Amino acid sequence: MKKILITGGAGFIGSHVVRRFVTNYPHYHVFNLDALTYAGNLENVKDIEKAPNYTFVKGDITDEAFIGALFAQYHFDGVLHLAAESHVDRSITDPLAFVKTNVFGTMILLNAAKNQWKGSFEGKRFYHISTDEVYGSLGTEGLFTETTPYDPNSPYSASKASSDHFVRAYGETYGLPYVLTNCSNNYGPYHFPEKLIPLFVNNIIHNKSLPVYGDGNYTRDWLFVKDHAVAIDLVFHKGKNHETYNIGGFNEWKNIDLVKLLCRIMDEKLGRPEGNSQELITYVKDRPGHDLRYAIDASKINKELGWKPSVTFEEGLEQTIDWYLSNQEWLNNVTSGAYASYYEQQYL
Ligand code: NAD
Repeated sequence: MKKILITGGAGFIGSHVVRRFVTNYPHYHVFNLDALTYAGNLENVKDIEKAPNYTFVKGDITDEAFIGALFAQYHFDGVLHLAAESHVDRSITDPLAFVKTNVFGTMILLNAAKNQWKGSFEGKRFYHISTDEVYGSLGTEGLFTETTPYDPNSPYSASKASSDHFVRAYGETYGLPYVLTNCSNNYGPYHFPEKLIPLFVNNIIHNKSLPVYGDGNYTRDWLFVKDHAVAIDLVFHKGKNHETYNIGGFNEWKNIDLVKLLCRIMDEKLGRPEGNSQELITYVKDRPGHDLRYAIDASKINKELGWKPSVTFEEGLEQTIDWYLSNQEWLNNVTSGAYASYYEQQYL
């Protein structure tokens, strides 16, 4: 039985990846390693917690002795590394936390894999899950490809760029078999409501204002999280060693248009008069270093591995909103306590 370590599996994307691997690969034993920070929540993987091929391990990827001992105990065959500090706004107020987890933590994992596998890399693979934000900002034209030079602008994207470089360096220097993906903005169930879509769904439910940065013209590419999990599965199993793949939804939206679409769907779902939720839109002071536009050219993963998104944005968004509306207890649980005071500091 192959032993697969997935880090950050109690977070948003990680929980979908863990669920997919536990369900689709009964001949793998999946170890979900997560420190359960504010963003980690075991509710996200509750449905698979009793599966015989699943083990949750609470631990911090920056704890070198602990990670070394974990690798020595279990002899993992593969690592899918998703654990990270992931919120750009938080990286502006506490950049060091991002260096610690995203750079140092990734180094600890790389080292543990290298030391454990000792140059005998047959059947082994280290997969680093990263973001398109490492490429910086686009103007109104063009797309990020796998050869676009890195040009990160926020402490978050700089920390992810740095960890990507270390992954490549371990491949070149020590021969560590790695794959790396850079993906656009995800949305879907279990997304922590500090991020735009779940934040606004929750605020619309509670008739709270919808804070839109600057003039709302920032443009992002959006991908349904379950389609990202399918891409991750494909790259882990079929991607070529030492290769990078861009993953995106072919689905660009200006923030303000996305917010208006959300408002329209929510008005319909909640039986409110059309235009009601749009009255909640409030333009707020821009985020420093805000990138104008991200857009991904995902043709390499499409041509080489046959991946493409399975749902349109409208379908994915509808599924997502339905999920939040029928999981309001989950929403209430994650928006109480520490999150409530963070929200006040950030937006009020
Ligand atoms: P998330 O914030 O929802 O989850 C991160 C998880 O990592 C949490 O469960 C948290 O408890 C855990 N974690 C944080 N620090 C840890 C530590 N020191 N040790 C162990 N666990 C720790 O993030 P997400 O949105 O699911 O993103 C997952 C990965 O995908 C990240 O690496 C992120 O950079 C990347 N990514 C995210 C997006 C997106 O749109 N969300 C897009 C592209 C790439």
